[in-house]
Amino acid sequence: MKKEKPYILALDQGTTSSRAILFDKNEHIVGIAQKEFTQYFPHQGWVEHDPLEIWQTQLWVARQVMEENQVEATEIAAIGITNQRETTVVWDKFTGKPVYNAIVWQDKRTASICEMLKKRNLEPYIRKETGLVADSYFSGTKIAWILDWVSLNRPDIKPNDLAFGTIDTWLIWNLTGGKVHATDYTNASRTMIFNIHTLMWDEKLLNSLSIPAHILPEVKSSSGHFGVAEAKWLGDEVPIRGVAGDQQAALFGQKCFERGMVKNTYGTGCFLLMNTGEVPIVSKSGLLTTIAWAKNGKVIYAIEGSVFNAGAAIQWLRDGLKLIETAHDSEYFAQKVPDSDGVYVVPAFSGLGAPYWDMYARGGVFGITRRTNKYHFIRATLESLAYQTRDLLEAMEKDAGMNISVLRVDGGATANQLLMQFQSDILGKTVEKAQNKECTALGAAFLAGLSIGFWTYEQLQSRSSFQFFQPTMNAEDRDTKYKKWRKAVERCKGWELD
Ligand code: ADP
Repeated sequence: MKKEKPYILALDQGTTSSRAILFDKNEHIVGIAQKEFTQYFPHQGWVEHDPLEIWQTQLWVARQVMEENQVEATEIAAIGITNQRETTVVWDKFTGKPVYNAIVWQDKRTASICEMLKKRNLEPYIRKETGLVADSYFSGTKIAWILDWVSLNRPDIKPNDLAFGTIDTWLIWNLTGGKVHATDYTNASRTMIFNIHTLMWDEKLLNSLSIPAHILPEVKSSSGHFGVAEAKWLGDEVPIRGVAGDQQAALFGQKCFERGMVKNTYGTGCFLLMNTGEVPIVSKSGLLTTIAWAKNGKVIYAIEGSVFNAGAAIQWLRDGLKLIETAHDSEYFAQKVPDSDGVYVVPAFSGLGAPYWDMYARGGVFGITRRTNKYHFIRATLESLAYQTRDLLEAMEKDAGMNISVLRVDGGATANQLLMQFQSDILGKTVEKAQNKECTALGAAFLAGLSIGFWTYEQLQSRSSFQFFQPTMNAEDRDTKYKKWRKAVERCKGWELD
């Protein structure tokens, strides 16, 4: 009998670093390797990566984690890929060379192309057919920009030779030696040129942006066949069987398999995703509709909302105000007072996102008295992460017409126990913290593992282990505090307008 291969290799290609994580059948991390790569800021508002450096660091960490843990390619059952979403690469299919740097999701250079789409009244169409808004964040206008740049600056490149991909596609292309040009539904759903209802590239949007269909990758189920990594990379051939964008992978890694399940990732920003099942829900609060994953061609949808400044507000306490030395200290200081004593910090540093959508809002601190001290300030800033999460969760509940009783959480700031308890208190809901901190990579591993029968759904469902936070605040206090928060937010709105 053939011996079962004991590991899944997850490639987690993030915005600042490439990581590779080996998981065993018990969902345990066997090893992690990580390497940062260069960020390029050629102009104000522009952010680029070198696609070759992304590929080289990703390959390096994969080899590194195998070497450090003495794992051979023959012991790896499959590869799962998760990636920074929306970041756009265009390359020459024949040379395999990128024609321009990768334009990163944060890059704002295509704002004027988005304005053009809005002027042509395409925004309602984009909203309805792609689930997104006309924003430079998504890949579509970035592709248009690169194609335009190539036509002006690279007469040596034939337009017919070009290929487009998000980072997953770029890695698959390289791993398979240029044999597979594919993406998965989750990544496609972040391009603003993919129709999330027909599950095809959208002809009307392609025409509007002058993007030829032949440069686009084939779109596949997130758990399925994406070719085989060539033997020259890892020492033997390894099948690529799972692909998902980072936030969707985290939703899957959190095992939010059922409709109505929600996860929140607390990093620099917060990303909330709710599994809405087989029906896409169009938000009335400006949340995005996106594809959560697709398995055997069956698509599951999600609604997504993000908080712009979550952990970033803690960084501001550290770097801007110098009230703390490390993010970790925030808990120690916040614990020195029983509550924020009526102080509210609204970290609307760059405007307010969903559900307020006010780019003219700016941050504010309210409720200061002679008694207010540094600890209240720190505590109030921490609490702002929880209030902003409630704003989004309420919007989701309204959109989906569902009452959520549990929030699953992951990300750096979930290390803060005080924050997690306050989150549960202010929501009046259970907060379930993932035991495994690497939910994003785990999600990619699950998708790959399910596809080759390394795990079954039943096994994954039955094996959850979490830390729970239960609300202890009484309902009256919760409502009073939350109302005050909404009042503080109101006062921040429109600040930059005269
Ligand atoms: P990202 O992936 O966005 O870089 P991480 O998941 O690594 O984010 O989380 C880092 C963020 O979490 C930082 O913004 C940091 O300020 C915040 N953070 C980390 N530890 C804590 C903590 N103990 N309390 C509050 N915030 C924290």
